[in-house]
Amino acid sequence: MSIKARVTLWYTLLMAVLTVVVLLIIFGVGGEQIKSSVRETLTKTVGDAADELDYDDEDGLDISDIASYENGVYILIYDEEGYPVQANLPSSLSADMTPALSNGSVSEFSSAGTSWLVYDVYSPECGVYIRGLASQTYADTGLNIIVRLAAILLPCFIALIIIGGYMITKRAFAPVKKIRDTAEEIAQSSDVSRRIGLEGGNDEIYELAGTFDKMLNRIEESFEREKQFTSDVSHELRTPVAVISSEAEYALGENASTAEKDEALSAILNQSSRISKLISQLLNISRAEAGRIKPNFEKINLSELLLTIAEEEQDLAAEKNIEITTDVQNGVFVHADETLLMRCFINLMDNAIAYGKPNGHITIFLRNDAGNAKGYVKDDGIGISKDDLDKIWERFYQADPSRSAQSGSFGLGLSMVKWIIKEHKGKIRAESEPGRGSTFYFEFPAI
Ligand code: ADP
Repeated sequence: MSIKARVTLWYTLLMAVLTVVVLLIIFGVGGEQIKSSVRETLTKTVGDAADELDYDDEDGLDISDIASYENGVYILIYDEEGYPVQANLPSSLSADMTPALSNGSVSEFSSAGTSWLVYDVYSPECGVYIRGLASQTYADTGLNIIVRLAAILLPCFIALIIIGGYMITKRAFAPVKKIRDTAEEIAQSSDVSRRIGLEGGNDEIYELAGTFDKMLNRIEESFEREKQFTSDVSHELRTPVAVISSEAEYALGENASTAEKDEALSAILNQSSRISKLISQLLNISRAEAGRIKPNFEKINLSELLLTIAEEEQDLAAEKNIEITTDVQNGVFVHADETLLMRCFINLMDNAIAYGKPNGHITIFLRNDAGNAKGYVKDDGIGISKDDLDKIWERFYQADPSRSAQSGSFGLGLSMVKWIIKEHKGKIRAESEPGRGSTFYFEFPAI
């Protein structure tokens, strides 16, 4: 059964039950109410009539002020022996059908399908009984009309609920069909560029469709990234593999001298170490992204770590005659994985040297600033253009890909830096001016 049919069925049932319950309550309470109001009118009218009775020794009993029918009540008067003094009975009743006289109590009797209430009062001053008769049937009739009306209207009402409700539910669930169709199309065609694209509403279903579209955006992005990644990796591998095979062919050639073979072998070695470097970086990245690198957090003296790296990078910097200056506050501690943090700053320093100008300067700065370890690595090298500044964090992105072949870098260093900083709940950003140098600002929670 469809969800539309189920929702319609359930609330129709609920509405029908509620309506019946409400009607029953109305009939029950209303019926009682009408009956008790008839009873009240009866006793009051008879009581009033008793007050109107007049008796004096000269004129005897005076009943001239007493109407024989008032407020729907027949008023009858009998003497002490039960003989009628004034007894205009309703046409449907004869004297033998009415109950015997009593005093002060209301009783009920039925005759010819009509239910009557009877009330007698004895007046000792006048020596007469006053009897009131009121039909309950007019009250019953009022209720009967309601019951009959309900019996006709209720099915119509339920039919309306079913039709109207089904239409409303169908309308409300129309977007669900669109969601299902889109999901079906994606499953059939594997085309993740499709979107549900529901517009013009802001209820839960529209929200669901929006979330679904957002999820599809993410999936499409990650598909694209994977595709890009595979193509980048193939691209990076193609050159060294081509060099290796051509050098090997050359070395195996009949005319190659021993010196040439040695040269070819060293070129092969060179390229294979490049491949192995790429593979190890790729492995690191894929392990990081798969969540398989679990940082081992401990209390680390970041000041010492930076000074050690500065020391270790001296030799590399010396090759370009770059001077490394450190402006590092002592005793800045962070909660970190030492190996990862080393790799992060070595990457930043390697870049500063690689893209620094010969005879240039690199500064490493660190301060504990209001509970945060803040610092930067600054160089005065080639700098990064505005357009490239956002992209340098992407895998395989290189502002100048031609450098890659000479330097043996692959554009993976900064994406690793970004991942490590994220794992440490830190922040990193780059500022740069082409031709004047770049500064990489970092920040971690200090302890
Ligand atoms: P690579 O292995 O190419 O250095 P990275 O991910 O470390 O890869 O850096 C990505 C790109 O960002 C580099 O190719 C370079 O264009 C740019 N870059 C990184 N650091 C600097 C820097 N200090 N100065 C200028 N450009 C830089």
